[in-house]
Amino acid sequence: MIPLEKAQEYVLQQCLVGSPECRSSRSSLGLVLADEVSTDEDVPPFDNTAMDGFAVRSEDTLETPKTLEIVGTIAAGTIPDFSVNSGQAARIMTGAPLPPGADSVVMVELTKVEGNQVTVERLVPEGNHIRRAGEDLRAGQTVFEKGTRLTPTHLGVLASIGCLEVNVFPPLRVGVVSTGDELVEGETFLKPGQIRDSNRHSLLALLNDLGLEGVDLGLIPDDEEAIEKTFRSACSGVHRCDVVVSSGGVSMGDFDFVKIVLDRLGDMRWMQVAIKPAKPLAFGLVGNVPVFGLPGNPVSSLVSFELFVRPALRKMMGHTAIWSPKIKAVTESAISRRPDEKTHFARVKVSLVDGSYRVESAGSQGSHQLSTMAEANALAVLPDGTGVQAGDSVEIILLHQLTRGLNVS
Ligand code: AMP
Ligand code: MG
Repeated sequence: MIPLEKAQEYVLQQCLVGSPECRSSRSSLGLVLADEVSTDEDVPPFDNTAMDGFAVRSEDTLETPKTLEIVGTIAAGTIPDFSVNSGQAARIMTGAPLPPGADSVVMVELTKVEGNQVTVERLVPEGNHIRRAGEDLRAGQTVFEKGTRLTPTHLGVLASIGCLEVNVFPPLRVGVVSTGDELVEGETFLKPGQIRDSNRHSLLALLNDLGLEGVDLGLIPDDEEAIEKTFRSACSGVHRCDVVVSSGGVSMGDFDFVKIVLDRLGDMRWMQVAIKPAKPLAFGLVGNVPVFGLPGNPVSSLVSFELFVRPALRKMMGHTAIWSPKIKAVTESAISRRPDEKTHFARVKVSLVDGSYRVESAGSQGSHQLSTMAEANALAVLPDGTGVQAGDSVEIILLHQLTRGLNVS
């Protein structure tokens, strides 16, 4: 067996980020910036009103109530061709620029209008309800650092500074395939000995969650020819995948043809990693495409994804932080294990109680018991030994959905 860190290091060494490309900002959602973005415009570009109301001179309202003459109206998108002089006011709509002479805005709700006169009830402080040019972003400043992942809001900001194109790391196409004669898809009645394929569905969904394009390479039987055809078309043929993730056929079974095929096609390493679940891991390059052969047991394949595939994909996507957050938590009740020279990753439920993270087991820990993985929102790292007692501190790896739920990044 090799230590987890050695296996991770080996994988990451060979997973390289792609060359940056220039893309339209609007088609860059979810991608990572390869260069910083700066603005050559102020946002907002000019002083404007935050309210519908009247543009006035603050000094005119020192004594109230004060009646002023309405000298014009300024809609958003228009430029006033008049000034507001002493004793005057202008109707103004949210987003419109201030007319010369005016230095503040009173909201319409605090005024009374009669004909072309408006009465202001209270003092309007200088600058009232005015949004200054550059208050959001200043011309010349850096807006986003290299390594920023573009969310919908980032695309909004890019639009607000007129940035139509960005340099980003290219999107990844990641192929997913399930292997196994016993596997069937979806709605068929199960014949004796058959089970339904779940790995492909959870793996494709994990890719989706990461903002990547998952390519469904299907479900293939334990058949050498079929396996070879699928890997060939995934790595160099029609599918043009940047990464391929397969599950099943990498352990010690007699019909594990994935090993035979991948050894023929690429430069693979077959590892026994000192972890549980997910001890067997195949990884290597077919051409220059990283290929992960994950174990078939559903929990093993997902734990493998978290420990090896997710960090590798994050690196290839251009992220600077590639590891999932690890935090310390206190165990609510004992989580036991047997000494076996492996690090165990136990499915746990974590909650935030009075500012500290508390964990309890999510239930049965068999690597075929996927339902408790769905219950879990973190993996507790249990070093070799007998486990942890209630009240012990334990390190946990937050699973993706939790990272959002508990607001830790
Ligand atoms: P293998 O790694 O192919 O030896 O498979 C180990 C165990 O995982 C076996 O019990 C398989 O039936 C099961 N298994 C393999 N692939 C899948 C899959 N895609 N979905 C659900 N279970 C699977
Ligand atoms: Mg199998």
